[in-house]
Amino acid sequence: MDHSPRLPGARFTGRTAVITGAASGIGAATAERLTQEGAAVVLADIDGGRGTALAERITRDGGTARSVTADVAAEEDWERIVAAAHGFGPVDVLVSNAYTVDVTPAHEMSLPSWQRQLDVNLTGGFLGFRALLPDLRERRGAVVLTSSVHAHKGIPGHPAYAAAKGALLSLCGQLAVEYGGQVRVNAVLPGPVLTAAWDRVSPEDRERSIAETAVGRFGTPAEVAAAIAFLAGDEASFITGAHLLVDGGWSVVKASA
Ligand code: NAD
Repeated sequence: MDHSPRLPGARFTGRTAVITGAASGIGAATAERLTQEGAAVVLADIDGGRGTALAERITRDGGTARSVTADVAAEEDWERIVAAAHGFGPVDVLVSNAYTVDVTPAHEMSLPSWQRQLDVNLTGGFLGFRALLPDLRERRGAVVLTSSVHAHKGIPGHPAYAAAKGALLSLCGQLAVEYGGQVRVNAVLPGPVLTAAWDRVSPEDRERSIAETAVGRFGTPAEVAAAIAFLAGDEASFITGAHLLVDGGWSVVKASA
């Protein structure tokens, strides 16, 4: 069955968006979605090769995109992301989506691993917000942070990832309050969505995760991209500080088990 959400129209014509972790999965689907709806998009990803390939494909298909090889945790890399975006115009939308994970229980996790996961998954969001805030204020822009169902539910082996995803929700509320009249800040919490993130997961664990959803299947990156586009667009004008589950009911199944 085709689970591609239908396009409601060109909601982002004349707008510029920065998407991190845009070379793959949910970030790539969001780049495709926003460019299909008229946005000019900067694809910021540590994997510059894949980011460039996607930007070229989007451009061939008539969209406007450019790739920047960047580590979201590196403060100096944000200068290049901002400069690339300004080639299009001031930034209206930030989708902070890049992530890394080291699946290891807390008692075996090294401090550098813990720190790196917080740097990419949490501090990357802060650095992006701070770098783009002048534009976002000027443009009455919107930020979408990609958190996770892991923010609420413990899954063995994810202490730093879960801590960062939970903290992103706190950051979402804080920023929504602090910049309320100027910039909307919301979060999506994906559940099991079939991307490269699942490459290292065993077939048994995949089946178990699917069984834990109410809809009985993996989500698609495009389905999360649709939720991100909604929160980033004008239809969500009265929504800020919100945490939107995009998990096929995984959380309610977990809660009722
Ligand atoms: P993915 O692996 O397909 O894509 C992640 C991208 O982030 C990759 O292109 C990678 O190169 C990039 N990246 C990694 N470190 C980076 C860094 N330091 N700087 C810049 N880019 C970096 O993963 P995905 O499944 O699309 O995940 C996207 C987001 O969704 C993540 O925030 C993840 O935590 C969240 N999420 C995913 C799922 C899922 O089931 N797929 C579930 C919950 C939450």
